[in-house]
This record gives sequence, structure tokens and C-alpha cells, in this order.
Amino acid sequence: MSNARLDVLISEEELRAKVAEMAAEIDRDYAGQQVLLIAVLKGSVHFLSDLGRALTLDSEIDFLQTSSYHGGKSSSGVVQIRKDLDINIEGLHVIIVEDIVDTGVTLSHLRELLSTRKPKSLKVVALLSKTGTRTVYPPVEYIGFEIPNEFVVGYGLDYAERYRNLPYIAILREE
Ligand code: 5GP
Repeated sequence: MSNARLDVLISEEELRAKVAEMAAEIDRDYAGQQVLLIAVLKGSVHFLSDLGRALTLDSEIDFLQTSSYHGGKSSSGVVQIRKDLDINIEGLHVIIVEDIVDTGVTLSHLRELLSTRKPKSLKVVALLSKTGTRTVYPPVEYIGFEIPNEFVVGYGLDYAERYRNLPYIAILREE
């Protein structure tokens, strides 16, 4: 994209406040329990890092990586596991930490895969959820922001590996 414009959608302050709010809710729901936070690489790393530090729960972290976008702006619809977990999740309270849910295909696949490994419980926390774009409807127990159907970058989200370092979420527009 040669001429791109960034329009801020969610500011750094709004992100900080929302992450604190979500952490407080998760702290309440899992009081006294240990949880495993699973971040989906790479887009969820900043969110996991901030959410993980805002939680007071006893928590562990692990990572997995899927691929479906291949550096472009629309989903290929095929989800593959590129990096699997290190931890055996059987008997654990697992929370999948997602950056954004769009069609729901990635999350639906992940929920199915992780369920077969017999966690004690399995929930999903997504920072962003696009409105009106689902083709499948996996449950998402905690949602930070509902956003319009626009391509967004920042706070971990990229376009061809760029923009992940922005401290806010912006809509990427071609000019
Ligand atoms: P889904 O399988 O729900 O269609 O897509 C989920 C994945 O697609 C997200 O984890 C993210 O990697 C990517 N994705 C979906 N929408 C956007 C977007 O607006 N911006 C960026 N950077 N990635 C997106």
C-alpha cells in the first residue's frame, strides 16, 4: 500500500481503561483459581502483556500461532497451526487471548482443537470484535470493543508486519 492513512479508532487511554476493566472482570470470575492465558501470535502479544499484568490472578502464559491471512487484508479461510503450545492444558482453566474476531473461523477452529485436550474450562477474551462479519459463531465470553467492518492496525495488529508498534488502534485506509 503506497499511500496509506491512519485514522485513530481507539486511543491509548481507552485501551488502557478497557484492559483494566476486563482484567477486573476476569479476576472476579476466576477468584482463587489458577488460569492459563493462551495468546494467539503475533497480534495478541501486546494485549496479553497488558492484560496479564493487570490481572491479580495466579496465571501462566503460553503461545500458539495460526496462519490464515498470509500478509494480506482478507482471510484465506484456511486455518493452520504454525506453532503449537508447550504446556499440556488438560485439567487447566484456559483463557484464549485474541486480538480480533472477524469471521470467527480462526477462533472456532481453536476452540475445537483446544477442547479435545480436555481443559477444565475454556473461555475466550477478545480485545476487538467486528460487527456483522461472522460466518461462524464461536462463543466469546469477554469482548473489549465492538468495531465496524474496517481493516484495523496497531496495538499488535499489522498490515504485512507493519504498524504493530502503534500504541492505539487505527483504521488503515488507502488514499
Ligand atoms: P477470523 O478467522 O475471525 O476471520 O480472523 C481472525 C484473525 O484475522 C485475527 O486474529 C487477525 O489476525 C486477522 N484479522 C481480522 N481482521 C483484521 C483486521 O482488521 N486487521 C488485522 N490486522 N488483522 C485482522
